Amino acid sequence: MNFLRLVPLALLPASLFAADAALKSAITAKVAADYPQLDAFYKDLHATPELSLAEEQTSVKVAAQLRTAGFEVTEKFGGFGVVAVLKNGAGPTVLIRCDLDALPVQEETGLAYASTVHAKDYTGRDVPVMHACGHDIHMTCLVGTARALATVRNRWAGTLILVGQPAEERVLGARAMLAAGLYTKFPKPDFAIALHDSATLPAGVVGTTEGYVMANVDTVDITVPGIGGHGAMPHMTKDPIVLASRIVLALQTIVSRETRPTDPCVVTVGSIHGGTKNNIIPNEVKLQLTLRSYSDEVRAHTLEAVRRICRGEAIAAGMPEDHLPIVTVSEEGMSSTYNDPALTKRVQGAMTAWLGAGAVKSIDPDMVSEDFSLFGRSAERVPICLFRLGAVAPEKVAESQRTGVPLPSLHSSKFSPVPEPTIKTGVAALCAASLELLAKP
Ligand SMILES: [Zn+2]
Ligand SMILES: [Zn+2]
Repeated sequence: MNFLRLVPLALLPASLFAADAALKSAITAKVAADYPQLDAFYKDLHATPELSLAEEQTSVKVAAQLRTAGFEVTEKFGGFGVVAVLKNGAGPTVLIRCDLDALPVQEETGLAYASTVHAKDYTGRDVPVMHACGHDIHMTCLVGTARALATVRNRWAGTLILVGQPAEERVLGARAMLAAGLYTKFPKPDFAIALHDSATLPAGVVGTTEGYVMANVDTVDITVPGIGGHGAMPHMTKDPIVLASRIVLALQTIVSRETRPTDPCVVTVGSIHGGTKNNIIPNEVKLQLTLRSYSDEVRAHTLEAVRRICRGEAIAAGMPEDHLPIVTVSEEGMSSTYNDPALTKRVQGAMTAWLGAGAVKSIDPDMVSEDFSLFGRSAERVPICLFRLGAVAPEKVAESQRTGVPLPSLHSSKFSPVPEPTIKTGVAALCAASLELLAKP
């Protein structure tokens, strides 16, 4: 067990959190000097997005930047994964992860550097491609951090591992990199950190959350069989529309009657399809669900309850044992992201010392998901911390608050982060967090 994880925040030496003015100004000057190149790198990434598992050119570009910054770079690790290592004497090992992939979205931002890219998706369909989740921001922040920390390497000690992870949007990349031996073929990290841009926080601000920060997600498909027939003779049938309707209502009791009220849980039936015509009772109905939770226990209970309710309602409707609903859970589910509280306190303290108290906010967790969670769920139990980076022009945030009109969300065709000061803030935050963890004794 890591000693620092047992030490209450108040007992940590104050010097750990004290901003070092000379170091800060050296990094700020380096980032300012690099900024035109970082801005160009970002806009190039934004204009040339690649889908999950197809991040070939993106990974080459990120690898080249990290190599130029002085890191030893391994490419094509766990798909198009990039692992860059800088060994700088004895000390802890800190891993920073960014993600490489974009989404099948038609960009509608109107930006001069907007994407017009189309590509074949994994089903072979031609789709538009856009960095609608801001992973291009993450890559640029990682490169800026690499350059800055390499420049001040006489001021820290330990090993820095920078990871460009593919296929986050399909939650396949983290699993692939860990399975390929990320923690055994490279130095095992003592800490892993990541940032994700936010479509609600203003640029210049970061947000942190201790404990659960993102949710378990399971995608469930249910086929509800019936015994079809004429709509005028329902007594000769087993109506799957009535049965599916009962199942939808009964599923609501998983949250309202079976789950402890203080444990967050979401059961959403997002799709229901069955039948073709007014006077025909169909042979089946299909339901599509998304399930969300934080704890492993609630996740397991919810899945068990969905299966039990489907089976029980079908039996109550008189369906035979060999004709019960089929519940299929997708392999693209993801476990929740748990921010190690001790690590998060250190990261938050360092960022506050660096950016100022007004620029670091404690924010609520979300019910979205991230496969960065897996970096903390391997047998090594590496403490992880994912924080949010404000990416919206402050005047747009103010306008949204005034008018009540929501801002374009992540994954929206209109999501357009402002490069500056978002990227500078992201680099400063990652440098502050890294130096906190890699400070020379
Ligand atoms: Zn996303
Ligand atoms: Zn994302």
